[in-house]
Amino acid sequence: MKSAAVVNFAPEKGSVEIREIEKPDIGDDDVLLQVANVGVCGSDLHQWTADHSWPVNYPVVLGHEFAGIIVETGDKVSQWQKGDRVVSETAAVIDLNNPMSRAGFYNLDPTRKGFGYGVNGAMTQFVRVPARCLHRLPEAVPFEYACLTEPCCVAYNAVVENTGIKPGDRVLVLGPGTIGILCAAIAKLCGAEVALVGLKADSNRLEIAKQYGCETITGDAGEWARKRDGLGADSVIDAAGVSITLQLAMQLVRPRGKITKVGWGPQPLGFSLDPIVQKNITLQGSFSHNWPIWERVVSLLANGQLDVRPIIGGIWPISEWKTAFDKMHKGEIVKSVLKPI
Ligand SMILES: [Zn+2]
Repeated sequence: MKSAAVVNFAPEKGSVEIREIEKPDIGDDDVLLQVANVGVCGSDLHQWTADHSWPVNYPVVLGHEFAGIIVETGDKVSQWQKGDRVVSETAAVIDLNNPMSRAGFYNLDPTRKGFGYGVNGAMTQFVRVPARCLHRLPEAVPFEYACLTEPCCVAYNAVVENTGIKPGDRVLVLGPGTIGILCAAIAKLCGAEVALVGLKADSNRLEIAKQYGCETITGDAGEWARKRDGLGADSVIDAAGVSITLQLAMQLVRPRGKITKVGWGPQPLGFSLDPIVQKNITLQGSFSHNWPIWERVVSLLANGQLDVRPIIGGIWPISEWKTAFDKMHKGEIVKSVLKPI
């Protein structure tokens, strides 16, 4: 039985098309998941436009943000059954004996390979998933929202685990993409005063972010950052996806403050890092997520504290992947969701 898949088939720009693929075989420790919904990530767009900076196993089915139903279980899988509603983590291949994996930080195992670039992803009917990647999805969370658990986990890791925001902190988030908006939403949940900073061209997405109760700023954020005591924001979360915003973050953060960089950006820096020394700043990176973060975020989605509805710009069948990708690429909407056919 074959089904349609969104396949990234070559390194050249625009090398994405619908192909018919076979239902995957599964191993003893895997399940076969029938995909209900899959989110389109900035990284899927980057592979499409060929400005990504990670190795891709061509041809590969795109998509790593997904939820669905188990339809088959491997011989050694005992804790999952056919019919279970689940969401899946993204670390499809890891070395269980890597010291980072042994410490529970398998997301930081350098040999890790993810769905959608390392192995076939979820923009299709069926995907092979190692059982260790799964989390039970409560009935209260519909699949079309559950497929966005992954970006919520990226934001949770950046804001809660890696920045440690406290109630009353003044927090600036740079960049109103999916991750920036979700970082702002989670910082609000932590009890912070939050402003999201973008460009004039981001006005659509900033308007959406307001639904999470944060302020929005286009242009100079200095006044907001220094409003309380003249010194700057307690934390700056940089989710902008370019290198130059680090310079801005160093200006906006207070002495002894923290900058967490969660947005990628391949450009070399063209400025001095001396403010980090002078202001005694902590510069922190944040990457991916692990098991306890997923469990917590699923709870936040189930109890309604975290609502992804505002960021969903539409749901398209995978045959219309191009429309879904385009709208996100142009910044018309924050997030596209696909449905297999
Ligand atoms: Zn993603």
